[in-house]
Amino acid sequence: MDTNRIYKKDMVQVFSALKKLNISVIGQGFDEKQRLVFKKVSSFQELALDEITPLQPVKSFLFPPTEKVFSYAKQDEKYQITPETSPESSEKKVLFGLRPCDVHAIEYLKKFYDGHFPDQPILRYLENTIIIGIACEHPSNACFCTTMDISPISSTGADVFLTPTENFFVIEFLTEKGKSLQSAFSEVLKSSEATDVQWKQNIETETSKKLLEKIEINSIKGQINKAYDKPLWKKYSDVCVACGGCTFDCPTCTCFDMRDVMESKKTGYRYRAWDSCSFASFTLHASGHNPRNTKMDRLRQRIMHKYHYTVTNMQTWSCTGCGRCVRVCPVGINTRSILKDIKEALHE
Ligand code: SF4
Ligand code: SF4
Repeated sequence: MDTNRIYKKDMVQVFSALKKLNISVIGQGFDEKQRLVFKKVSSFQELALDEITPLQPVKSFLFPPTEKVFSYAKQDEKYQITPETSPESSEKKVLFGLRPCDVHAIEYLKKFYDGHFPDQPILRYLENTIIIGIACEHPSNACFCTTMDISPISSTGADVFLTPTENFFVIEFLTEKGKSLQSAFSEVLKSSEATDVQWKQNIETETSKKLLEKIEINSIKGQINKAYDKPLWKKYSDVCVACGGCTFDCPTCTCFDMRDVMESKKTGYRYRAWDSCSFASFTLHASGHNPRNTKMDRLRQRIMHKYHYTVTNMQTWSCTGCGRCVRVCPVGINTRSILKDIKEALHE
């Protein structure tokens, strides 16, 4: 592993090096309405790394909320289908300053979309993306990454990893993609000191004090389905308003719907749009039958998917403990409390 220092005062050169390479930078910053979002930035000053993570998940830059799949035109009684490829999917980009939870979420998306049926458009976005992770010093009051076995200093999945200090970052180039940036940054890379490893440890200690207490759920891993018929679900689904916020803001939710638009009698297009298992229409059959007819069925499905089905099918939780579902829920449903209740119900 190659480790250096890069001084914050030199970040202007880092940004011009990326610009020269035609690589755009996405990171967290404020939009025109002063909302914290992930957005394209053109300078280091535009980033707001000392804030909590934005509510909006970074997946929207890899798996856009809506995207055309193909267009069609009827000619001489035959249909011509033209696949649509978004130019943004081929754009080289750096996701700058992603927290370990969000880097893990991208690892999950990669695993999911490169599964039995590889999703080429999303894989194209991922292929052209370099991830620069950062040790997390600013968790929100809903963060529970350690419950999901993610450390606030984990660099797993990142191409480059930054550990912030007051005046400089300790920078590690971890993968081939990450190392491809090393020569571009060479002018501003300074030698690291033996004591630099301590900075990361300090962040882990300090951030762990701010995080919500870890719930030990490894003891119930692979058994959460046994809580399927327990009464706990009703307590939460009774207040759920099925708004879908917890799924749309979740960095690991992957579901989408296909929709067709007829522009004229002869032309139209198909697009995909994020969908949510919280919506009644999500599993509605053409016959009118709905296998998940109640809010309880749907809320339980979301939780079972994240903490049981992907564990058995993909050997991983599909939750990073980022806390967005808790922050966004208009009625205060807390995923962490659901996990506590499941654990309690299984030990009854
Ligand atoms: S379920 Fe909640 S805490 Fe887990 S990854 Fe999704 S939004 Fe984050
Ligand atoms: S955000 Fe809250 S109210 Fe909305 S669907 Fe999710 S659990 Fe239900």
